[in-house]
Amino acid sequence: MQTNYGLNIWADENFIIKDNTVNVNHKTQPSLLEITQKLRDEGYRGPMLLRFPHLIKKQISTLYTQFNRAKEEFNYQGNFHAVFPLKVNQYPNFVNSLMDVSKEFNYGLEAGSKAELVIAMTHTPLGAPITVNGFKDKEMISLCFIARAMGHNITITIEGLGELETIIQVHSEFNQENKEAIIPKIGVRIRLHSSGIGIWAKSGGYSSKFGLTSTELLEAYDLMAKHDLLEQLWMVHFHIGSQMSEINPLKKALREAGNIYADLKNRGAYALSAINIGGGLAVEYGQYPHKKEINYALSEFANDVVFLIKEIAKNKNIEEPDIFTESGRFIAASHAVLIAPVLELFSQDYQEKSLRIKEQNPPLIEELNALWKDLTRSNAREYLHDALDHMESLLTLFDLGYIDLEDRSNAEILVHLIIKKSILLLSDGSQELLKLQNKIQERYLVNFSAFQSLADFWGLKQHFPVMPIDKLDIKATNPATLWDITCDSDGEIPFDDNAPLYLHDVDIDKEEYFLAFFLTGAYQEVLGMQHNLFTHPTEVTVDFDEEGHFTLSKLIEAQHTLDVLDDIDYDKNYLNKQLKTQIQTSTLISSTQKEELLGKLYLYLNENSYLKTIIASEKESIL
Ligand SMILES: *Cc1c(COP(=O)(O)O)cnc(C)c1O
Repeated sequence: MQTNYGLNIWADENFIIKDNTVNVNHKTQPSLLEITQKLRDEGYRGPMLLRFPHLIKKQISTLYTQFNRAKEEFNYQGNFHAVFPLKVNQYPNFVNSLMDVSKEFNYGLEAGSKAELVIAMTHTPLGAPITVNGFKDKEMISLCFIARAMGHNITITIEGLGELETIIQVHSEFNQENKEAIIPKIGVRIRLHSSGIGIWAKSGGYSSKFGLTSTELLEAYDLMAKHDLLEQLWMVHFHIGSQMSEINPLKKALREAGNIYADLKNRGAYALSAINIGGGLAVEYGQYPHKKEINYALSEFANDVVFLIKEIAKNKNIEEPDIFTESGRFIAASHAVLIAPVLELFSQDYQEKSLRIKEQNPPLIEELNALWKDLTRSNAREYLHDALDHMESLLTLFDLGYIDLEDRSNAEILVHLIIKKSILLLSDGSQELLKLQNKIQERYLVNFSAFQSLADFWGLKQHFPVMPIDKLDIKATNPATLWDITCDSDGEIPFDDNAPLYLHDVDIDKEEYFLAFFLTGAYQEVLGMQHNLFTHPTEVTVDFDEEGHFTLSKLIEAQHTLDVLDDIDYDKNYLNKQLKTQIQTSTLISSTQKEELLGKLYLYLNENSYLKTIIASEKESIL
């Protein structure tokens, strides 16, 4: 059974287990529980997204360090540069931290739409590279010219011949009166015949949405030569897709791209001086040794890139080009952790205290009771088999009308308790026991929306590491299925006996229990859907002061109920008025009650729309 939730596989030493909690492995090493508790003490409820800028910095710095090391090792003459692809995370509290921690690297941004381009133009320091990929219209190309006129180091990647024609058009209009022409730099995206997962794969291959075929490349070259744009043509770009689980497809793509680069250069594209290898560097999300997602390390990745390009440059007798990467997932994933409170456990009814043993019980019930009481490690397997057998018989007896509902309930509880106890005693990992866990799994209702916060789990069944943030000194034995709070059965992370998650037995009325989902910083936020109208969770940035203590800042609370509706274009005034009128004209309540309800309603509409737990004492006084 897992004891550290695979932390050694996915955490990259960013988080450690200390005593009984998960702690941030930085400075004073605060626990995630302390951080969460601090937010809850300030009154915030519902799921919370914690951002850790020091982890963004770590990834950027590792990327540059590894490539610079490889450069030195192979005596490579070109430079290494990187940009962050905004589509991976455009949220301001991420982007601002990203720019802040990357100052020393001259790190830039990649934009794939007008809105992203505006972020790049306003957040990249002059001189740091901006690359613009994706389909572009005349307006977007004009925006690139404007960025260049501001002094930005901007490169338009041509995805098709039409875009080049538009560039030529905008160039002639934009520079009519300029003595010295202002033109962005130009890159060409190439369409590779090799690709990630086979020759016709979507991301890179010939059927890809993006890039120029060799015929189109030659035409583009001629067109640029004709319009004096060869001086701008400086980059060859490709991107073979995200989360590359192995390195071989990249090597193939590099050989192809390198040779295209060299041939264009030898043909007369004299300004060519950079190869952009796109993104795709993978993140280890796996939580179990047999479920690892990557078979290479960044050092190997960097070595292969540098070595292969060097070799091609030598063979084709050209200078070694600068190398660009656009890795996004690798940079952003680890910085965000989602903390979600457990609201309820659904199997509380299978507890000893729920038994209704009678004076006179059917013999099989008496037998089950004895099996449960006398179960030991040495007899567990035999007793377990007996219990399962008795259960079958008891269900048949019920169908035939020989035992009643109370007997049946007792049977269910006792068998459940016997299975649980035998698993605990035997814990031998045998197939039989693993299968039985499905029968006794607990459903944990967790205060978050999988659609909003783990979109790739919903869409692609991407696994995200999950674990409780405290009680780690106690062995968790409940096979767990997680339910989110949407009314959609897809919002369920089912117990998987091939990759089992065990959680603790907790009484939520008495104590809080939080789960953390890790590596949620890439793609999930902007892909998140407002299914059931659950919105982005409350977010906060966790920094560290000079003494090494954590500080919380840039807090944005999850949207209030009324604002959620306003967002999808309901008229807030209308909603308010409707609710108010309905209370005021109701004949079911007194006027003092009306006042009270109006007050309550006002409060509810202006609170964040995730669930709130009821305090145990409040519940007890009623039940
Ligand atoms: C999406 C994308 C990236 C980023 O890919 P990751 O897998 O997140 O590294 C880089 N470049 C381009 C052109 C992209 O479309």
